[in-house]
Amino acid sequence: MIDQEKIKEAARLIIDAIGEDPEREGLLATPDRIGRMYEEIMAGYDQNPKDVLSTVFTVEENNPVVEKDITFYSMCEHHMLPFFGKAHIAYIPDGKVVGISKLARCVEIYARRLQIQEHMTGQIADAIMDVLAPKGVLVVLEAEHTCMTMRGVKKPGSKTVTVASRGVFENDDVLTDRFLNLLTKGS
Ligand code: ZN
Repeated sequence: MIDQEKIKEAARLIIDAIGEDPEREGLLATPDRIGRMYEEIMAGYDQNPKDVLSTVFTVEENNPVVEKDITFYSMCEHHMLPFFGKAHIAYIPDGKVVGISKLARCVEIYARRLQIQEHMTGQIADAIMDVLAPKGVLVVLEAEHTCMTMRGVKKPGSKTVTVASRGVFENDDVLTDRFLNLLTKGS
């Protein structure tokens, strides 16, 4: 899917455009490395999170499932600079659960694309809703955006928090507050 040759060409152009010498020793292999790196950090385009989530187990009791502190690294689509942090997910099943590691895989697939955090939060919630059809799902993303910390407003350490709620979490404030507290406590 990813055209490594084009990425290498673009990297070479950027190196040249900032006034560097693409032929100097330290930079010779850089376009190559960037090409291979993009293959990895943009791998999410070739994967469907719904496939990952489709291995489900039936349960008798619909006890809430909470998965906290899923580390992710993504790239903001406005500056193509990294934003990174933690994803926290809670859902109340309706007879079906998914393997815990699949939630982390789902986060990773959406992270490995050009993203905005708000959109990514909603995509994760929607994928879980679509595949598992739980009673409700709550997704919280906390991330540092290097486009804000290494350039622009330069506020190191500041975090952006986004929340997506679906199902019962959309209209039960008490329930939502209880789970928001659980998801973000200590992080
Ligand atoms: Zn940005």
